Amino acid sequence: MPQDAGHSDPRAIDVVIVGAGFAGLYMLHRLRGLGMTARIFEAGSGVGGTWYWNRYPGARCDVESMQYSFGFSDELQQEWQWSELFSGQPEILRYANFVADKLDLRRDITFNTRVQSAAWNEGSQSWAVGTDQGETVRAHHVVMATGCLSSSRMPDIAGRDSFRGRTYHTGQWPHEPVDFTGQVVGVIGTGSSAIQSIPVIAAQAKHVYVFQRTPNFSIPSRNGPMPAEYEAEWKRDYARRRAEARKMRSGVVSPLNDKSALADSEAERRANYEQRWKLGGTYFMQAYNDLALNKASNDTAVAFVHEKIRAIVHDPKVAEKLLPTNHPIGTKRICVDTDYYETFNRPNVTLVDLHDTPIREITQAGLDTTAQSYAFDAIVFATGFDAMTGTLLKIDIAGRDGASLREAWSAGPHTFLGLMTAGLPNMFMVTGPGSPSVLSNMMVSIEQHVDWIADCLAWMRAHAQGAIEADGAAQEAWVMHVNDVAHRTLYPQANSWYMGANIPGKPQVFMPYIGGVGAYREKCDAIAQAGYEGFRLSPVHAAVQAAE
Ligand code: FAD
Ligand code: NAP
Repeated sequence: MPQDAGHSDPRAIDVVIVGAGFAGLYMLHRLRGLGMTARIFEAGSGVGGTWYWNRYPGARCDVESMQYSFGFSDELQQEWQWSELFSGQPEILRYANFVADKLDLRRDITFNTRVQSAAWNEGSQSWAVGTDQGETVRAHHVVMATGCLSSSRMPDIAGRDSFRGRTYHTGQWPHEPVDFTGQVVGVIGTGSSAIQSIPVIAAQAKHVYVFQRTPNFSIPSRNGPMPAEYEAEWKRDYARRRAEARKMRSGVVSPLNDKSALADSEAERRANYEQRWKLGGTYFMQAYNDLALNKASNDTAVAFVHEKIRAIVHDPKVAEKLLPTNHPIGTKRICVDTDYYETFNRPNVTLVDLHDTPIREITQAGLDTTAQSYAFDAIVFATGFDAMTGTLLKIDIAGRDGASLREAWSAGPHTFLGLMTAGLPNMFMVTGPGSPSVLSNMMVSIEQHVDWIADCLAWMRAHAQGAIEADGAAQEAWVMHVNDVAHRTLYPQANSWYMGANIPGKPQVFMPYIGGVGAYREKCDAIAQAGYEGFRLSPVHAAVQAAE
């Protein structure tokens, strides 16, 4: 357990924020606006979070640039110019730096510093936050802006450390350029990160071996340069469109067809899917309103995408191996690509189906499957993340009466609204498990959470409240609701990271809230308006008042 000791200054700052991704940056800005003292600790050496760490070739957003950006400031959204319809990682990282500079945020960010512990002290109604640099800071509130996809995961493959060539993980890509020219490269994994990076690596490398355990559905992004008129149209109408996005299920203004797939004839369905395929990206899943709900409807979309894969990939045996068959489309995060399936027509790309021939071990030279040995110059692990809970559980968190987050979440995350966990007063999460987060345009969900937290802190100050905590009963009712809603959909049918299924031994519960961004926002607002119903509030202790 972390000890609440070692700090001589009894005064606490208002808020410690952990993480300088988009969530942490906006949180700091809001708190400054309230006149509160706040400090960010960030493990990396720069801002941007996801876009700081994931520098792999081809890394790109799958939400349109005009929508994957902050909407809270018209000045920011008018000034910044995106060069492509779907932005690449370098441009999104530049945008994060632009925001940090424009809002003068850096002076309150401590980089290269990882928060390791947080211990609640009831007497002072504050947290003692400990870092790997040996510093302990006292703060009345902690905001975990630690990200849902920020703990990259190396799989436990036998011999993993024996490989003599270069090893990369997409989520921890080096800052200096990586040149695969003339190299033989093994890529392990075929999720979103792999599907984006494989075509780019293949265009450079001598040969690429793709090691696929589970095929995924991918839709072409149809990315291209940003048309000037399209950008101008968005900028003219930003206020209305942002407001619309905040009400949408996915937090994206998008062309949802409010009709069942089974209500159309075969010919109509085909025409609709063709049109969606041409439109590209995640909008494909909005071709009908029941693709996530009805297996028979979902099957029609699966059949269409299978047909597309067969048409694109020349070798019928390779095409068959690329067909996803073990989960309904969209129940794992749909992938969005540029030339992914086309890449398997290149002579320098080989698909290795691990379903037929699993990996036996990683060797000094490369990798052995049960059928064959492969030799590489480099291995790229595109093996994903310990999503939603992994980063939080790495921090040693001890709440009221020493209650530990690790124990509280031992059977899966329990939160009220994905914002707080019972037993941890004054500790908030941005886009935590139990909120729409990863099922939405994250910029919209981040803004909603940060605004809710900032408003809550302002309300507490105005009402002389020293602590807020999720009520246990309200939390359990919310956990049940999140679970009920998930089980009314097809999502739990996939072994996805949403379910924790990608991490051996992780409790298998559906973690994000499927109820939709708009409905969730209304719920959060109603709770705040009712004086934070479902939360327990305690007045500022007299001793704390005297000390401040
Ligand atoms: P992050 O960006 O993850 O930032 C968290 C920060 O906290 C990190 O910098 C980390 O270093 C820091 N941190 C964590 N723990 C500690 C600690 N203990 N001490 C100090 N610092 C700590 N979302 C979309 O909506 N659309 C997309 O197209 C999209 N594409 C994505 C592509 C990739 C490759 C990945 C991995 C994710 C993508 N996402 C996308 C999700 C993306 O994570 C969010 O959109 C968003 O960037 C999250 O911002 P954040 O600030 O909440 O978290
Ligand atoms: P991921 O979706 O979890 O994919 C990991 C891949 O690695 C899977 O194919 C998995 O196979 C494979 N894998 C894991 N362990 C393995 C092992 N031991 N042996 C062989 N294969 C193994 O991770 P990700 O691709 O990094 O994406 C994570 C999330 O980040 C996405 O779902 C998305 O939300 C976000 N993201 C978005 C974009 C974008 O388009 N904007 C891009 C990248 C990431 P199994 O499926 O069989 O487990």
